[in-house]
Amino acid sequence: MTNRKFPRGFVVDGVVLDAWEKIEPYFDRLRDRPIDTVDDLERWLIDYSELIACVDEIGTDRRVKMTCQTDDPKRKAAFLAFIEHIDPKCKPRSHELNVKYTKSAASGALPPDRYGVLDRSIRATVELFRDENVPLQTEEAKLEQRYQEISGAMTVELDGKEQTLQQLALYAERTDRNIRQKAWEVEAKRRLQDVEALEDVFDQLVHLRHGMARNADCADYRDYAFKDKQRFDYTPQDCIAFQDAVEKAVVPAFRQIQQARMAALNIDPLRPWDQAVDVKGREPLRPFHSAGELCAKVSRVFRQVDPELAAQFNDMRERGYLDLESRKGKAPGGYQSTYEESRHPFIFMNAVGVQRDVRTLIHEGGHAFHCYAARHDPLLQYRSSPIEFAEVASFGMEMLTLDYLDEFYQGDDLARARRTQLEGIVTLFPWVATIDAFQHFLYTHPDHSREQRKAHWLELRERFGGIVDYSGYEDALSYAWHRQLHLFEVPFYYIEYGIAKLGALQVWRNATVDRKKATQAYREALALGGSRPLPELFEAAGAKFDFSYDTVAPLVEMLMAELDKLPV
Ligand SMILES: [Zn+2]
Repeated sequence: MTNRKFPRGFVVDGVVLDAWEKIEPYFDRLRDRPIDTVDDLERWLIDYSELIACVDEIGTDRRVKMTCQTDDPKRKAAFLAFIEHIDPKCKPRSHELNVKYTKSAASGALPPDRYGVLDRSIRATVELFRDENVPLQTEEAKLEQRYQEISGAMTVELDGKEQTLQQLALYAERTDRNIRQKAWEVEAKRRLQDVEALEDVFDQLVHLRHGMARNADCADYRDYAFKDKQRFDYTPQDCIAFQDAVEKAVVPAFRQIQQARMAALNIDPLRPWDQAVDVKGREPLRPFHSAGELCAKVSRVFRQVDPELAAQFNDMRERGYLDLESRKGKAPGGYQSTYEESRHPFIFMNAVGVQRDVRTLIHEGGHAFHCYAARHDPLLQYRSSPIEFAEVASFGMEMLTLDYLDEFYQGDDLARARRTQLEGIVTLFPWVATIDAFQHFLYTHPDHSREQRKAHWLELRERFGGIVDYSGYEDALSYAWHRQLHLFEVPFYYIEYGIAKLGALQVWRNATVDRKKATQAYREALALGGSRPLPELFEAAGAKFDFSYDTVAPLVEMLMAELDKLPV
């Protein structure tokens, strides 16, 4: 099943497309081939897909290898060569092919059931493309790089050693309140040193992005971003409805959770450094001791959900498609990546033995199952879905496995792990609404001043924030958004997490009624890849694509009811 081969039909067998000279002739051939009939056009689309997949496979492989060992200069050089010398040359050539497609009379005669989603995507890409935006995008990428540099260089002295801000995260779980406060203050102080630099970068980004939007005949950058992200199935007004729903249905629940935390910790008020510690003063959970143990246990968890999925996961392990354990030289974080030509997933993470690692592997496992489920489609664009649904695959798997975490935890620990996970979902929604609402304001008011930006942020914190008392740390609160990388690097990308969570919670709700049927629907929806519009993908998974109060409120009620059943 997972070892299925996908033979080439266009690119010559055995040729590795690792240099522009080898790639270019294939672009030329696609450019010169007639696509006047539906048959010719269908074949052309499949060959075009194959070419992009073969090139993408090289880029993915180099990125994966680099992240697995960042201290190897050869791997870094190979990856940079791809993004500097191959990728930028492919982009204008792809645009040329997209234009060719839109001009072909046959494109209007393709069966809409099969090609409708692809067709609207290519047309939107062509419509938004402007030559004069290419240098602006390069400038934007440089500013984003500047943000990374500034953030990446932030370190502090604590406990007699230099530490990164990522390392400081561990202090938030320390049971000694003074230690937590000290670490929090050290980090806040360090971040404030770069406020001016980051405000400068952000001013420039807003200005640049607004210019790109105007070049593309869009009213503002929000309008541009919706088109660029190909949000065909929802509007800014739907996002605003989501923000309102979160304010009404989630914020009270979120504050209730924080009230309970404050009472359990026997403190008043709740301070910023009190948000992650265990309320009973227990040490952090240690669900496993080695990557091998993590892998074996997660495999058993997947088997409880569906034996076929477990078989896919075991196969990944045997083929070396997993790199799980943290070690020196590995890039931080975790991700799932797809090798587009061979159509197999790869999971990367940095397991150190904490609860988050279990969730990460289950989450990335959901993405990997999505890749396997949709790999049969010859069209590259249909082998993955938009993020709004891709994250239903991963968050949905987190929810479907919630009942089987006893592979990792027993008794009190099990309740504690479930509580952390469910509370985390309630907490996420107000943050998503905050970040989304903030961006709506920023880009529909491109001439805002720094003071207005700050005032609006604080207003949103009032509206969506919890009960944490920031007295004495007002500056830290005012610029808390500086740490949210998405605002700088991937503007408007955030609401997707909220939308996908709503889908995943509905999958979970269905599973409480009929687990087998819910899992089946989940798998069938994954198999559609990106071939259908979002509302249909959600529907196939047994979920409604809707982010209004009517959808949000009952799901949050269900979460709170589930939390009520768990001992504190
Ligand atoms: Zn994900």
